[in-house]
Amino acid sequence: MHNDVFTNAISRLEHANQYAKLPHEVIDRLKRPRTTIEVTVPLRMDDGSLKLFHGYRVRHNDMRGPTKGGLRYHPQVDIAEVKALAFWMTCKCALLNLPFGGAKGGIQVNPKELSRLELERLSRNFIGEIADFIGPDLDIPAPDVYTNERIMGWMMDEYSKIKRFKTPAVITGKPISLGGSLGRNDATGRGAYYCIKELEKLNHWHPEKITVAIQGFGNAGQHAASLLHADGYKVVAISDSRGGIYNPQGFDIPSIIHIKNETKQVQAVYCSGSVCETVAADQVSNAELLELEVDILIPAALENQITADNAQQIKAKHIIEIANGPIAVEADPILLDKNIIVIPDILANAGGVTVSYYEWVQNRSGYYWPEDEVHSKLQQAMRREFYNVQHEVKEHNIDWRTAAYVLAIKRLGEAMQAHGTREYFMGG
Ligand code: NAD
Repeated sequence: MHNDVFTNAISRLEHANQYAKLPHEVIDRLKRPRTTIEVTVPLRMDDGSLKLFHGYRVRHNDMRGPTKGGLRYHPQVDIAEVKALAFWMTCKCALLNLPFGGAKGGIQVNPKELSRLELERLSRNFIGEIADFIGPDLDIPAPDVYTNERIMGWMMDEYSKIKRFKTPAVITGKPISLGGSLGRNDATGRGAYYCIKELEKLNHWHPEKITVAIQGFGNAGQHAASLLHADGYKVVAISDSRGGIYNPQGFDIPSIIHIKNETKQVQAVYCSGSVCETVAADQVSNAELLELEVDILIPAALENQITADNAQQIKAKHIIEIANGPIAVEADPILLDKNIIVIPDILANAGGVTVSYYEWVQNRSGYYWPEDEVHSKLQQAMRREFYNVQHEVKEHNIDWRTAAYVLAIKRLGEAMQAHGTREYFMGG
């Protein structure tokens, strides 16, 4: 499934460079990840048997600073996917003007099949394998799909044991009690919400008239849903890996989150047993959810959900990409033809890495900020880059995705050119 996800991801570079007009050596450099590591992670299972898992870490580009990016636990994690995700992190950090390059990692595993003790051992063993490649000034992991703050806490602890000193800044997205930042947990959903608030101003929206469908109800999707619901937006459809629910009147999001947390199971939320009785809703499949007639569609699960096969059927007027890479490259022109505005992943989901940066700053200074300070810094950063991207949209008359890449690669180009250009070395 992910064979060409990296090739697809970097194909957007050439297109953006028609407008950024950077020397080709910059684009060539961005097409190649800096370091790619593949490790075998051994795990002693609860029944005494030994299982071996594939683990990966890719540092895509570190021109602008140490690399940063999440760790994903999923059965479909492979090297092409990790390379694509690392490339997106490079672009995202540049777009938000953070002093970081991009990285990503993961383990090919279905965490739902492991006990909690097995999950802890696997996470600690993975850090044992990659400890020489990460560090607060080198490469700083964070949570991603099916990893969470508890796992980040285990990983920080394991790294600190290996190095024999406490190193909270090696990883972000930690529990607050272990050096996490207030406001990190909802930062990705909140960053997307801030983008929607700017769209609201530009389009003079009345939230109670705006309908929203969200695919993926994990960390990022849930927080975006909560914030939008609190502002009066009608969240009419949500889904997870098992399927979805739809109610044109809109859902009471806090009670859905409560039900989901009550069940204590990641998959067992929708329309199984008591939940269907509690929540009045029609069932929809993930594919159907994407094609609903709504104002805003928020893919917040995995990549390649909107492709050439279903792009023509998308009816939403705005798509806010909380997931990384939910729209395949070949679907871009189809959506553009339909005048659908796509706020791209490298902008819409950048709230997570931005607050991860704040966490890293707080860990290094040993001084912790109140939550409202984190929120207001995040809002300023998101707003600033939202309008910087809009400036590129207007200047070149291009779509938001291309504009975001133009801005990101211009900043990456500046950093690379500061090391010297062809003209500098050849006296041109
Ligand atoms: P999560 O593990 O908390 O949640 C993932 C959700 O997606 C779950 O609800 C799961 O059931 C659902 N899901 C899985 N497979 C699905 C499928 N085939 N169809 C529909 N739903 C499916 O993960 P998350 O942290 O919320 O991440 C979601 C997306 O947001 C990912 O693409 C991730 O890379 C991106 N993202 C997350 C962060 C962050 O800080 N958490 C930051 C930037 C981007």
